[in-house]
Amino acid sequence: MIINTNLMFRFSLILFSLVSGTPVRAATSAEDTRAQQLVASPAYQAAVAAFDRDFERFVNELIFLTEIPAPPFAEQKRAEAYARLLREVGLENVEIDAEGNALGLWRGRGGAPLLAVAAHLDTVFPAETNVTVKRVGTTLRAPGIGDDTRGLAFLLAVVRAMKAANVQTAGDILFIGNVGEEGLGDLRGTRYLFGRSPWKDKIKRFVTVDGRSNDLIVNNALGSVRYKATFKGPGGHSWGAFGQASPAFAMGNAIAKLSNLVVPKKPKVSYNVGVLSGGTSVNSIPFEVSMEVDMRSVSPEELRKIDAQFKRLVEEAVAEENAARATTFGKISAELKKIGERPSGATPTDSPVLKQVAATMKTFDKVPVWETSSTDANIPISLGIPAFAMASQSGTKSGRSHSLDEWTDVEKSTAVKDFSLALAVLISVADTP
Ligand SMILES: [Zn+2]
Repeated sequence: MIINTNLMFRFSLILFSLVSGTPVRAATSAEDTRAQQLVASPAYQAAVAAFDRDFERFVNELIFLTEIPAPPFAEQKRAEAYARLLREVGLENVEIDAEGNALGLWRGRGGAPLLAVAAHLDTVFPAETNVTVKRVGTTLRAPGIGDDTRGLAFLLAVVRAMKAANVQTAGDILFIGNVGEEGLGDLRGTRYLFGRSPWKDKIKRFVTVDGRSNDLIVNNALGSVRYKATFKGPGGHSWGAFGQASPAFAMGNAIAKLSNLVVPKKPKVSYNVGVLSGGTSVNSIPFEVSMEVDMRSVSPEELRKIDAQFKRLVEEAVAEENAARATTFGKISAELKKIGERPSGATPTDSPVLKQVAATMKTFDKVPVWETSSTDANIPISLGIPAFAMASQSGTKSGRSHSLDEWTDVEKSTAVKDFSLALAVLISVADTP
């Protein structure tokens, strides 16, 4: 009965909207009200106008930053340039921290906790990569331009627009260009931020502007653990020492055992042997072989489980090889070196911050698609701090990331529309009590 009444009510609302031509917003939660007030506010509108007015500056800064190489563990030049720009747009306390992150503070009026908003400085490309930006129409092409230099340039545009429009946020916002997101950087920038930085206990929300499309909200942190497993033995002649234990057979056995592991589909668990190396010649029993293994899951528990299984199967494979063949000149041993570890977890979609994000996106007729990925948000998420990753552009406006053909589109009207959505999300998160 209650359902029927509710349906009748909704139906009459739809009729009303058809007659009057005004769109109906069925629910009016606190989040909806906050989102609608924000988007309708003169200050926000003025900030959007500032995006439009200063758009060329965004494009110029995007090109400028892209052309400063920032390979993993060598982001310093770009960090210095970014710190200078953070100072130029008017942030306070601008500095480069002990890990190499460039950061600056936006002062709020009070009433909400500190929000950190980041984009990553590093790219996946080695120092010698040609990073000159090529422009054809509104398409800019260069390695790293989308992932994540566009995010860096966008944050500068945000601060400039908010300053120009005199936007006031409740919470302070710490703007960050962070190091170490990609690959072996292993999230070292955000790890420092939440582990050892003077800001570590002050940051209560975290957003990283990184990703391919602005309707994807990455609130599920895909965790991973990575090893280099090195198998060693005495080696010997392939004919003369035949019958002696071989690290190659031990490693092959370990790979076979790994490949036979049955893992859950939900929550998904994955494993991969990505790099194999070792040996010196075709007619020698190798004295050393190694493999690099990557295991992932969104569930911390499943990740721990497969991590333990992997360690056990390596031990088994070694023991089996030492039992199967002679060890006259020495036994086979294996050494595991952890080469990566990204914690997993999730920011619940019904947490106040994500409810606010959904409500704000609704004012743009968008529904968040909750995504699972490995981003800088993994670190705060694993600590229970509400965090997510989102893109500053819509789906078709960037592509081929991690390739030399990487591109991003800077057609102004779409970009400004995309910026206004991301700005509304950021302000509304900074305003969430
Ligand atoms: Zn990225």
